Amino acid sequence: MTSKERVLSGMRPSGRLHLGNYLGALANWVKLQDSFDCFYFVADWHALTDDLDTSDVAGNAIEMLADWLGAGLDPERSTLFIQSLVPEHAELHLLFSMTTPVTWLERVPTYRERIEQQHLESPSYGLLGYPLLQSADILMYKPKWVPVGIDQAPHVELTREVARRFNHTFGALFPEPDVKLTEIPKVPGTDGRKMSKSYGNTIELADTPEEIVRKIRPMVTDPARKRRSDPGNPDICPVFDLHKIFTPEAERQSVATNCRTAGFGCLDCKDVLLKHMLPPLERIRERRQVFAEKPDAVKDVLIEGSRRARVVAQQTMKEVRDAVKLTP
Ligand code: SF4
Repeated sequence: MTSKERVLSGMRPSGRLHLGNYLGALANWVKLQDSFDCFYFVADWHALTDDLDTSDVAGNAIEMLADWLGAGLDPERSTLFIQSLVPEHAELHLLFSMTTPVTWLERVPTYRERIEQQHLESPSYGLLGYPLLQSADILMYKPKWVPVGIDQAPHVELTREVARRFNHTFGALFPEPDVKLTEIPKVPGTDGRKMSKSYGNTIELADTPEEIVRKIRPMVTDPARKRRSDPGNPDICPVFDLHKIFTPEAERQSVATNCRTAGFGCLDCKDVLLKHMLPPLERIRERRQVFAEKPDAVKDVLIEGSRRARVVAQQTMKEVRDAVKLTP
């Protein structure tokens, strides 16, 4: 037993992670391990709300786990598990669906956005119930904290309401978790837009140094700086956003000055960035590669983590069943 406060978070198995995923969530997860009892899960049931073709899901989970482990998640200290290997989540989701008004789910912004963006005429029940399954994922482990970016905070607020309503109906079972806001740096992709798989502009944690160099060299810069002699503006340059992440303060200031005075060219500037960017990413890549080459070992990590998570889930469900009092 640990007396540390518990943290819970999950990610959909979308395959290899990119720098945006790492800096927006994973790097923070790794840090949290030092002070909290961390539960991190692969949200494979949630992947079905995107696509019913499941042929890639298991392989994507292994690739993602290789990135988690490469980035420094430690299965000895954190419980790393797969949602579908803990079927208690589905039972809790079902019980929550009895106490949660449909209108709460219909007003979730991401639900409305998905319907509009994908022109869904007949959205599935699973899509509507997605935030409720997420509430079950969270409350099952009674965490104190849920680390999320600001855009996910409404989901945690819904989870608190779900817990309140359930507690009011069946007794005080679930503590309300708090949001632990993750500061997410601006991570531009190579085309200057937000880094995203769907834009094809990512730098993956699995990329070799050569691949990263190949992606950074032609990266979009301040569009007004057309010639080497034109002064640039680092404040609007996506390359400089990466400098803010990787380049130490003092050198970053000299980069900004050189940019504004046309003291060096954009390729020189990118070389400075690569000098600072490649070593930490190479350490992650080397570690993740060791795991990616041993998919069975990664699978074992997930099976063992799921077994541990299930012990907690079964205890929670025992308390829930006792409170709901269905069984004679
Ligand atoms: S010198 Fe660097 S910061 Fe300035 S525009 Fe070029 S790439 Fe961007």
